[in-house]
Amino acid sequence: MDADVSAIGRYMKKRRAERGWSLSRTADICGVSKAMLGQIERGESTPTISTLWKIASGLQVPLSRFLVPEGVALQRLNAMPRHHDASGMIVTPLFAFDPALGFEMFAIELPQDTLSESAPHASGVVEHLVVLEGRMELFIDGGWQTLSAGDAIRFSADQPHAYRNRHPEPARIHDLIHYPFGD
Ligand code: MN
Repeated sequence: MDADVSAIGRYMKKRRAERGWSLSRTADICGVSKAMLGQIERGESTPTISTLWKIASGLQVPLSRFLVPEGVALQRLNAMPRHHDASGMIVTPLFAFDPALGFEMFAIELPQDTLSESAPHASGVVEHLVVLEGRMELFIDGGWQTLSAGDAIRFSADQPHAYRNRHPEPARIHDLIHYPFGD
């Protein structure tokens, strides 16, 4: 991932302090080891997207808070940093979270043979996927669904879910994520 690691660590520490949570408590709630959280806070480790999601869900903050500088709302895709996850998935923020609107939006690219597995997000989080190009499979409610260009699906993301692409053509997706809290 190309994110500003020290900015991620600073933001995490700030939110943790606001909640009055120790590193141990945060580790328990997020399901991320205390050692890993400490490394991220000190800017020593670059978290994967799935780890960042766990931290965001535990601290009840939108994912884009970690990826987009505060105060930036409208993005131009070509100008935005592309976050390369260890899974192969590439995530680009399109719209940062806005508390008045309750959502953020990402462009996602899944190259061939990418499998991105996600722990449940915070309670009430809903994702809206629109497949722009290629094909992908979404794991939700215990099974895989195939989606092709032009398909759109809304699902409750407070359960385990996963994206994968087993085809040669990269899948390009937009993902609008609604949060039931105002940040
Ligand atoms: Mn998700």
